[in-house]
Amino acid sequence: MHLDRIHRVTLAHLPTPLEPMPRLSEAIGGPRFWIKRDDCTGLGGGGNKTRKLEYLMAEALDCGADTVLTAGAVQSNHARQTAAAAARLGLECHLLLEREIENADADYLHSGNVLIDRLCRAHRHHFSKDTDMQAAMDRFEDELRAAGKRPYAIPVGGSSPRGALGYARCATELLAQSRELGMNIDLVVHASGSAGTQAGLVAGFAALGVDVPVLGICVSRSAQEQKEKVLPLLRDTLSLLEISTPLSESSVRTNGDYVGEGYGIPTPEMVDAVTLAARLEGLLLDPVYTGKAMAGLIDLTAKGAFGEMNNIVFLHTGGAVSLFAYRSIFEGIP
Ligand SMILES: *Cc1c(COP(=O)(O)O)cnc(C)c1O
Repeated sequence: MHLDRIHRVTLAHLPTPLEPMPRLSEAIGGPRFWIKRDDCTGLGGGGNKTRKLEYLMAEALDCGADTVLTAGAVQSNHARQTAAAAARLGLECHLLLEREIENADADYLHSGNVLIDRLCRAHRHHFSKDTDMQAAMDRFEDELRAAGKRPYAIPVGGSSPRGALGYARCATELLAQSRELGMNIDLVVHASGSAGTQAGLVAGFAALGVDVPVLGICVSRSAQEQKEKVLPLLRDTLSLLEISTPLSESSVRTNGDYVGEGYGIPTPEMVDAVTLAARLEGLLLDPVYTGKAMAGLIDLTAKGAFGEMNNIVFLHTGGAVSLFAYRSIFEGIP
């Protein structure tokens, strides 16, 4: 793999731990469940965007940027980690935030990720639901340039081929850890949104020549739409890595059964999954991504979907900071 030839800055605490979840495994039955702790990447509250930002921020510095901009939802974990990375590197940071949730309460608008964005001194710009955020970013980038800045635009979720390299690297890390533990990973399960995590992992395992299937649980679209989002990014990530092994479409596995009404909208199964993980393992999942992915893992286990598998790794992509923004939905738990 050509990973080491591509410039990256160090932002994350790596390797993140790979730990068993014995009490959760016992409670839900099925194979042994492990958790890859990418919630512990360290920067400004941690999460999966930090691995991507190691490559994206390196490119920003190589371009001579003094300012970065990116876009996301109001409670975007990606925006928060970008704000922290920019602070760490002494760059100005602009966040273009879309109000994806209507009727949001004060916790949603001011706590969780938003509080950390402010602490890191990111400039926040607000947009209404259904704004074309890519167009808004293009316009804003022009404005920054006109104002004499040298901006570097980071795509939504950090999901460009370059950002996805962070997860190709994570595949290498996971393989080394599983070998050290003397176990074979039968499946990696994670929440899939802007698709860089899934594209990076699949590209990374392919580049290593190992057959480790990756299942993306959708948090914002149907299985088919998500697959169509992952595939082109996967192709471009493989070509950035100069890997010519053709991958079939079946290497991109997605499940869209746990989205509920839409992105960031809670489901009862998510609330149960977040509660269960806290009570059995002391693990903090989040309401938007990992809670829905864990709800999927639990339900698929109950349906016998994992048949003969022995070891399944749940990739914890972070996000627990937004628990504070979603405080009210947990009021009903016993
Ligand atoms: C962004 C994010 C994801 C999804 O990762 P993508 O690379 O955007 O698919 C999953 N979990 C959390 C907590 C995130 O912030």
